[in-house]
Amino acid sequence: MIFLRDYVTSHSMRGACTCGRCIDAPENPQEVQPTGHIADMIFFKVTLVDNPNKEEYERLVRAYFPQWLDGKEHGYFEIGADLDDQGVGLQAMGLGYLLGLWNLLTPRSVLGAGCPDDIVQAAAGQGLITIQASLPGAKPFDLNSLLKSPKVKS
Ligand SMILES: [Zn+2]
Repeated sequence: MIFLRDYVTSHSMRGACTCGRCIDAPENPQEVQPTGHIADMIFFKVTLVDNPNKEEYERLVRAYFPQWLDGKEHGYFEIGADLDDQGVGLQAMGLGYLLGLWNLLTPRSVLGAGCPDDIVQAAAGQGLITIQASLPGAKPFDLNSLLKSPKVKS
C-alpha cells in the first residue's frame, strides 16, 4: 500500500482544499489550484507530475486494490480508507482518471456546470465523488479502435 501511496503522491499534485473546514488551507484556496490538464475533484483539482505511466499505475492498483477496477462505483470514503488518507484517496482517483483507467463521477459532472456551488459541495461532502472503471472487455477510452472503425476516416 505504501508503494501505491508513494506513486500517487509523487506522480500527481493537488491544489489547496476548498471545503472550508480544513484548518491548514490558505485564505484563497480557489486560487491555489493547478491548471491545464486537471481532474476536478470538487474539493481541489489534481494534475499529473513527473510523467506517470498508465500501465505502471494499473499494475500497482491491481496489486493492492484490484476492486477499484471491477467496474462498480467506488467513492472517496472507501478509497480514502484504503489509503488511510482521504486527500491521497482523492488524488489517487484523479490520477487514474487522468491516465484513462476509469471514469470520474462528481456532483459537477453529474448535475452539470450550472449547478450551484453550495449544492455541489454538499453532495461532495456526502461522498458523491466516485470512480468507475470500464467493465472487463469494454474499452471506452481506446481511441485507436475508434479511429480504425470503418465509419471514421482519418
Ligand atoms: Zn478541506
